[in-house]
Amino acid sequence: MYRPVKYVEKLLSVAANGAWYVFDTLNQIKQSPPFTPKWSDKPLQKSYEKPKPPLGWPRETDSLCPKCVPEVRRKILEGKLPYEILLTEKVGEIKAWIIERDGKILMVKRCPIHGYFEDVLSIDPEFTRHIEQVFPGRDIRAHNDRHLHNHGSSTITHGRGAVLTIDLTNRCNMMCDPCFMDANQVGFVHELSWEEIKALLDHAIQIKPRRQLSVQFSGGEPTLSPYFLDAIRYARELGYH
Ligand code: SF4
Ligand SMILES: [Zn+2]
Repeated sequence: MYRPVKYVEKLLSVAANGAWYVFDTLNQIKQSPPFTPKWSDKPLQKSYEKPKPPLGWPRETDSLCPKCVPEVRRKILEGKLPYEILLTEKVGEIKAWIIERDGKILMVKRCPIHGYFEDVLSIDPEFTRHIEQVFPGRDIRAHNDRHLHNHGSSTITHGRGAVLTIDLTNRCNMMCDPCFMDANQVGFVHELSWEEIKALLDHAIQIKPRRQLSVQFSGGEPTLSPYFLDAIRYARELGYH
């Protein structure tokens, strides 16, 4: 036996769902033309225009071999492979299948070199199904982002510019274990030049759609970069928050 307030809550919930259904149906009868806000060069999409990737399972998807990727990364760092192959080739990419087995959602894949891999994506298939069902669809296609989103087959194509994170250096005066960046532990220093920092800030501020763009400088320890203060100053000049 539930408390009376629970029945009232349920009644309100059913009434709200019904009201939303009526409003949504009426709203679709005479659609106004698409609206282009000043922070975008392209019109916003109606909800029914938003594309969705294939969802549900079993389904095939793109994935990465967890052994090929670090091997290629190491070869690039050792100078045995040019970093440009990350733009021109699908390094480490393999197909995977998302399946349900024994009450779990699994990703299974086979690399021709390294064999079979199996990972648990979810231990609650019903909840995962619900999450996929309420996915509203992809956001507006990103534009003015030719220099910013240029990462080969991993390039981001949709979404709004909101937060830019720039790792100024992988140096750090601490040595935490674990460190989210492996700062001080990879055996080499990776530190952005002023030209690289400026290019990142210049390119990112041009992305559309963009309402307000925050920047955060990270690392390593960002204050160890000789350009830390210059980067903050320049970001403020460009209009970052
Ligand atoms: S970057 Fe952060 S987590 Fe890593 S060693 Fe420095 S303080 Fe620790
Ligand atoms: Zn592999």
